Amino acid sequence: MTNATTSRGRLVIVSGPSGAGKTTVLKQLYQCAPVPLVPSVSATTRAPRPGEVDGVDYHFLSEEEFAQRRRRGDFLECVQVFGGGVWYGTLDEAVTPGLEQGKWVLLEIDVQGALSVVEHYPDAITIFVRPSSLEELERRLRGRQTESEAAIQRRLEQARNELAQAHRYRFQVMNDDVERAVAELSSILKNVEAERHD
Ligand code: ADP
Ligand code: 5GP
Repeated sequence: MTNATTSRGRLVIVSGPSGAGKTTVLKQLYQCAPVPLVPSVSATTRAPRPGEVDGVDYHFLSEEEFAQRRRRGDFLECVQVFGGGVWYGTLDEAVTPGLEQGKWVLLEIDVQGALSVVEHYPDAITIFVRPSSLEELERRLRGRQTESEAAIQRRLEQARNELAQAHRYRFQVMNDDVERAVAELSSILKNVEAERHD
């Protein structure tokens, strides 16, 4: 099995409740990261949001395609994050080639997926992004205007579960302000990189 210790790259796992601002913050981080950071593009069976591009934001698969790839063993991990039959998963091919090229491959995945990836890659750098409060999280989810009321309720319930697991992550970053959160993430990566050369 490929291991992050033997590959030249590093695996970075970012989790946090839906609406915490992960996508917003990470988009900026890719522009200014102090290491060669690349995103792992996940697969999902959820419908694309306006502006989302297939192969960039996600690989948008039909349920049949997803199930077929799952049977073939193409996923490093996959989970129905919010139940309801909607799948999300990390493709092995989205991770291994990047690591072998010395990239820092970033997985933006839920807590359950993160814990299973850490079993394969124990030296993965785990970071939990949190909102300043649950009220603020709800405001952001509603402000995004991309989910139905039922989906918002499922995401808020899941947020409570995920926040209770934040202590399992090596780092926690509060996204109260985008610029500040980006700077903190950048500094975490820089410090981890420096540790490696100690
Ligand atoms: P996630 O990827 O964690 O689900 P998004 O990046 O889609 O979250 O952000 C959810 C909403 O919150 C978006 O409308 C985004 O513009 C907004 N947002 C993100 N970060 C902040 C912040 N620090 N302050 C206020 N609004 C934010
Ligand atoms: P969204 O539908 O808002 O893009 O993502 C919802 C949730 O799914 C987020 O918490 C995100 O981190 C998680 N997610 C996205 N891709 C994956 C994946 O490949 N695996 C797992 N386990 N979770 C994922």
